[in-house]
Amino acid sequence: MLKLENVSKFYYNKGIIASGFTKVNLELKIGEFVVITGESGSGKSTLLNVISGLDSYEEGEMYINGKETSHYTEKDFEDYRRKYIANIFQSFNLINSYTVYQNVELVLLLNGYKKHEVKKKILDIIDQVGLTKFKNTKVSKLSGGQKQRVAIARAMVKETPIIVADEPTGNLDSKSAGEIIEILKRVAKDKLVIIVTHNIEQVEEYATRIIKMNDGRIIENTEIKKIEEEKEPQKSIYSNMSLFNKYRLGIRNTFNIKTKFLLLFAVFLFISTAILAEYASFQMSEEESVDEGYSITFSDLSENRILINKKNKKSFTNEDYKKIKELSNVDYIVEDDIFLDSGIMMYRNDMNLYGSLLSIDTFKGEVDLGRMPQNEDEIVVKMRDDSFYLANNKNELLNKTFSVLKSTGLNSYNNEEVRKVTIVGIQYFTPSNSDNRNKFYASKEVLNDLRVEVNKNYSTLKLLFNGKYQQYTVEPNDNVKKGKAIVDDDFKYDFKYYSILNKPVDVYVSNIYYNDELNLTISNTYTKYNFTRLTGLEKYDNNRYKIFVNTEDYNSLYNKPSYQSSVFVKDVENIEETINQLETLGLTAKKVTDFKVNQGEMYKQIIKIIKVVVTIVLIIVLFFISYLIIRIILKSRNIYYTTLRMLGATYKNVRRILDIELFTNSTISYLFLIAFIYLVKTNVIALEYIAKLVSFLSIKEYVLMYVILIVISRLISIKFARKLFKNTAINTYNEEV
Ligand code: ADP
Ligand code: MG
Repeated sequence: MLKLENVSKFYYNKGIIASGFTKVNLELKIGEFVVITGESGSGKSTLLNVISGLDSYEEGEMYINGKETSHYTEKDFEDYRRKYIANIFQSFNLINSYTVYQNVELVLLLNGYKKHEVKKKILDIIDQVGLTKFKNTKVSKLSGGQKQRVAIARAMVKETPIIVADEPTGNLDSKSAGEIIEILKRVAKDKLVIIVTHNIEQVEEYATRIIKMNDGRIIENTEIKKIEEEKEPQKSIYSNMSLFNKYRLGIRNTFNIKTKFLLLFAVFLFISTAILAEYASFQMSEEESVDEGYSITFSDLSENRILINKKNKKSFTNEDYKKIKELSNVDYIVEDDIFLDSGIMMYRNDMNLYGSLLSIDTFKGEVDLGRMPQNEDEIVVKMRDDSFYLANNKNELLNKTFSVLKSTGLNSYNNEEVRKVTIVGIQYFTPSNSDNRNKFYASKEVLNDLRVEVNKNYSTLKLLFNGKYQQYTVEPNDNVKKGKAIVDDDFKYDFKYYSILNKPVDVYVSNIYYNDELNLTISNTYTKYNFTRLTGLEKYDNNRYKIFVNTEDYNSLYNKPSYQSSVFVKDVENIEETINQLETLGLTAKKVTDFKVNQGEMYKQIIKIIKVVVTIVLIIVLFFISYLIIRIILKSRNIYYTTLRMLGATYKNVRRILDIELFTNSTISYLFLIAFIYLVKTNVIALEYIAKLVSFLSIKEYVLMYVILIVISRLISIKFARKLFKNTAINTYNEEV
């Protein structure tokens, strides 16, 4: 049956060769009860491991049923073990978290038997070892002798021709040891039993052969009882483990150790929570960035605002406005739409208000405080409700008269008053990204008086003088003749022969609507002595280095007819239709929101890229962290899986069982998270921030997260199984024990 010819086993360890046993010659038959003895370290276990196919040998030849095994691969030895060998170990090698029944059943499940086929056989064998009373008891609760009986039952149930027992009684008291040997003897009929023991007396009466080893060699080999004929060995029947059994074991393993289940549950919960939270936060900032588009030119970015020009570039007429107003979706028109985007500064005793000036006709709704205007100097203001002036005393602004200050170009002002207005009514509004300015609703008269200021506040003025663009301010003055300019006498020093009179001064104005220029010539220069006479103004020093031009000339730069207006629609949904209607009226019409600088969009793209990168990095980092944690958690399972391996589980089996275990655990953990999110969403659990965060996740992302989780758990099981199988079963086992 089993024959060893000059077989040697060496261990290579860090370059040092150690001998396990040397040149062993042995022939064993079915029916023998072989007892091996010898001092500790003499090579008994090594010999049994080689015979069991748990370990390789380096020299000689081992024959099984006449077949050579020296060329066997790991896979061949797997088959060999399944067919011929059942092991019994000193330390039992049982699955402590399984019951007696489950332990015996395990070996059959691993070898492809179906659950219902084996029940009777298992119960029968449990009865034979006298454990029927304990069949549903967890192995961890049994005594040493009982445990070893389970191990024997497990070895028997496989029905292999060879049983290999390495010091099966080593951990037992002499009474239990005696019982175990007796059971073994009973089992030994028609089998080859090889047993290592120190206690010769206990086995003497059963032994058919006693082998003594010393220092890796067989020094004595006594056949006590001759076994005549070699009986044809009965090979155990096995097939590959069924998928169903893998599921059965995988799911059993998920729950059988509670702390392990909870730890894995926590790790998977952590992975999915971290990834979903990170992803949702990005989605949130991405979404919020969308509204952050802005425009340098347009301050009022209301969604219902359409900018219109005439296709023929002419200015608007009342006839045009009448036609536009007839369109059903048109709410109101702001004729000089520059007013919406420019502003005026109102001032009084250290109080100042900035905002857009608009016609009282376009005021909507009711005032919250005060009343509507009754004369041309009265205005209604629409104030941000977070305004400083409304915080303490709501009435503070009411019935106060303000001076509208003179603009000196692009949002700068001096302290000169252009005209007075009185606030008689206030309406509050909550500012948003598209509408955040205060608005002053005034009469046509005020609008006319301030048109120049509004335009000036929105325009740049350039002065070309003596061949250079100069920084001097330009002032309107009634005393200056049309087409002329009066300048400071000091300027003459820049000119040859001081001849400054009749030299040209060009004034250029530009804003988003138009460019214009004034070509003037210098008619006079002023000094301290003639200043008041020439300009009609007092205080020479305050006004030095200014250029005075004719008031009408000056106003012509700013007092333009309306080339661009804005239409506000009632219903934003139908804005495209209104735009089409406006186009058919011979107008160019564009939503103001089309002019938003796409910074928001760009920002969104950047966030998107960062989101993808961060998510991928996070997944990778979490994978490694969780692999390390799960490896530590599963380390306690090394023995379990090695035992499976010794009982006949292949790499694929182990991986699949582990796969199923991690899959079940991660799925339960994910379902838990989903249930939690559902409760937050439906407000059963009131967590405002989390509810907001999860509102940025869609089904697609939940599914994707699940897939990621499954992939992670699969990769972990592959990595873990590989690590487990890197070493021979016996080495992995020895490392652990
Ligand atoms: P026994 O079972 O008779 O006590 P072993 O078979 O365990 O003896 O050991 C035989 C020899 O092989 C000893 O010298 C031991 O140190 C050595 N040996 C056993 N296992 C290993 C191993 N994994 N690596 C290196 N040497 C080993
Ligand atoms: Mg030993």
